[in-house]
Amino acid sequence: MKLKDRYIKRIVCPCCKEKKLAEDLTLSLGRKVHMWGSREINIDFEFLSKTQAVDWTCDKCLNEKKAIQAIFDNQKYIDKLPRLAYFDKEIVCRSCGVEYNFSKEEQKFWYEDLQFWTQSDCTNCKKCRMKIREERNLNTELSELLKNKTDLDKQKLVRISDIYKLMGKDEKSKEYLTKSRRK
Ligand SMILES: [Zn+2]
Ligand SMILES: [Zn+2]
Repeated sequence: MKLKDRYIKRIVCPCCKEKKLAEDLTLSLGRKVHMWGSREINIDFEFLSKTQAVDWTCDKCLNEKKAIQAIFDNQKYIDKLPRLAYFDKEIVCRSCGVEYNFSKEEQKFWYEDLQFWTQSDCTNCKKCRMKIREERNLNTELSELLKNKTDLDKQKLVRISDIYKLMGKDEKSKEYLTKSRRK
């Protein structure tokens, strides 16, 4: 921080990106937070201006419902600091490269209800997450079906062929379709 900035004592709200004075942050300042495995910390202006790892917002963002105040005790899996607030974030999906909105409500649900690891960020969009889950389910179903290769009736062979088709494995799909026709 430059000397001049320190003198003015303004910090940029991560949500609205506006420069804020201490008097604009009354809903965040004074909250008590536990650093993982460490002592209790009082959130003051100095703390917010130095730390970059946590999400927090100005009073205006909270009052206008652009952000939700986080409940620290609900976040169980933490590396360093809990998240202080949630606000909508644009995230580029690691799988498809499309930018999507990770909403504040969804974040609260992730970190406080599902109790996901607090430092982990969402890396895939909803569509890709669903696709990944579906693929995982198909893989499970397939390995169940293939457990007893000697015991495959026509119906099961057709299902295996279908699963390979969905996975884009056309050669395998054809192989099992041919097998099913022989039954
Ligand atoms: Zn703000
Ligand atoms: Zn995606």
